[in-house]
Amino acid sequence: RLFNEVQELKGNIRVYCRIRPFLPGQSTKATTIDYIGENGELLITNPFKQGKDGHRMFKFNKVFAPTSSQSEVFADIQPLIRSVLDGYNVCIFAYGQTGSGKTYTMSGPGTSKEDWGVNYRALNDLFNISLSRRNAFLYEVGVQMVEIYNEQVRDLLSNDVVQKRLGVWSTSQPNGLVVPEASLHAVNSTTDVLDLMQIGQANRAVGSTALNERSSRSHSILTVHVKGTDVKNGSTSRGCLHLIDLAGSERVERSEATGDRLKEAQHINKSLSALGDVIFALAQKNAHVPYRNSKLTQVLQSSLGGQAKTLMFVQINPDVESYSETISTLKFAERVS
Ligand code: ADP
Ligand code: MG
Repeated sequence: RLFNEVQELKGNIRVYCRIRPFLPGQSTKATTIDYIGENGELLITNPFKQGKDGHRMFKFNKVFAPTSSQSEVFADIQPLIRSVLDGYNVCIFAYGQTGSGKTYTMSGPGTSKEDWGVNYRALNDLFNISLSRRNAFLYEVGVQMVEIYNEQVRDLLSNDVVQKRLGVWSTSQPNGLVVPEASLHAVNSTTDVLDLMQIGQANRAVGSTALNERSSRSHSILTVHVKGTDVKNGSTSRGCLHLIDLAGSERVERSEATGDRLKEAQHINKSLSALGDVIFALAQKNAHVPYRNSKLTQVLQSSLGGQAKTLMFVQINPDVESYSETISTLKFAERVS
């Protein structure tokens, strides 16, 4: 109910900020976070400037403090996720520099229940709701998981040793797929999902020296397709949930990066700014939305805009060393919110 009011006020795009806590063993605890307001205000202190010029205020739909738990975050977005059962398309992004908590928010730090991030909780919730409605509706749930690395789309759930580059369709196919070559896995329980995620994570490491390195330079997209059939009259609806762990948004110094690293950085830059441009155009209700400028926005085209709902988690690392990345992250968010 509250959610609907927010919807009407803000349209279909929402931006939440989540601040990660200092980690055990982190040497400094000097923070840039000055104040977190009840209504989504966030005041940032510039460690290099004194006085009133040393502060900057940002405004979000909501700010999650470092003490916020996974379940608190999920409780807030649950209505959005449930709307997929009613045939809506939903995209949930995590944006921020490497180490700011994107994967923590989307997947969680482990597979125990308290650790679960948005993706496990979302699927678990969808299964629970579909069970409770089973006398009225029959829901079929299928998942795909792809990675976009250097503007190439790869299936993370395929067993093929040869990693095929997949095509993206500009309009979704009758079965709702825009990447029809990526394997689609029917799932009936959270256990099924946990098993698939393990495969996805393992495949993400293929061809890279360190898992963490690769995962910070590619976008991973978990797509949940839901088909609902009304038991009485046989009518069907389709909804789709995209859960996106974006590549790290940190700027790479041109002088530092050469060869492959430079190419990666350019691809990441291009796709994140294309995403920003699309969301900005949608927020402005522009007639032209530039979906074609990156693989990321092409894959998500049918789920961004129109009746679709978008939520961006803007992830912040609180320490003073991250100040300039924090500001650039917040500026990105400011533009799209
Ligand atoms: P990213 O995916 O943006 O690179 P991670 O999700 O891997 O960042 O987070 C970096 C580190 O911070 C990890 O050790 C993670 O467990 C920890 N972390 C991130 N967010 C939180 C949080 N809200 N609470 C506790 N630890 C967190
Ligand atoms: Mg990560």
